[in-house]
Amino acid sequence: MDDTPAPAAKPCATCGKPVVEQRHRPFCSARCKQVDLGRWFSGTYRVETNESPDEAESADKRHQNEL
Ligand SMILES: [Zn+2]
Repeated sequence: MDDTPAPAAKPCATCGKPVVEQRHRPFCSARCKQVDLGRWFSGTYRVETNESPDEAESADKRHQNEL
């Protein structure tokens, strides 16, 4: 029997929303995972960011266009 309580949802590493889909940890979605990967590849990854979720989405769309 496994009655271990579910771990508290951690914020998405990209947009800060609670991660509800465990398969995408530590991100809330595959899209946020791609955004994070893009940051690493572009060499601009920062742990601290002032980007709002909306700005992160815009950056994601720009990244998609570059592909
Ligand atoms: Zn996210």
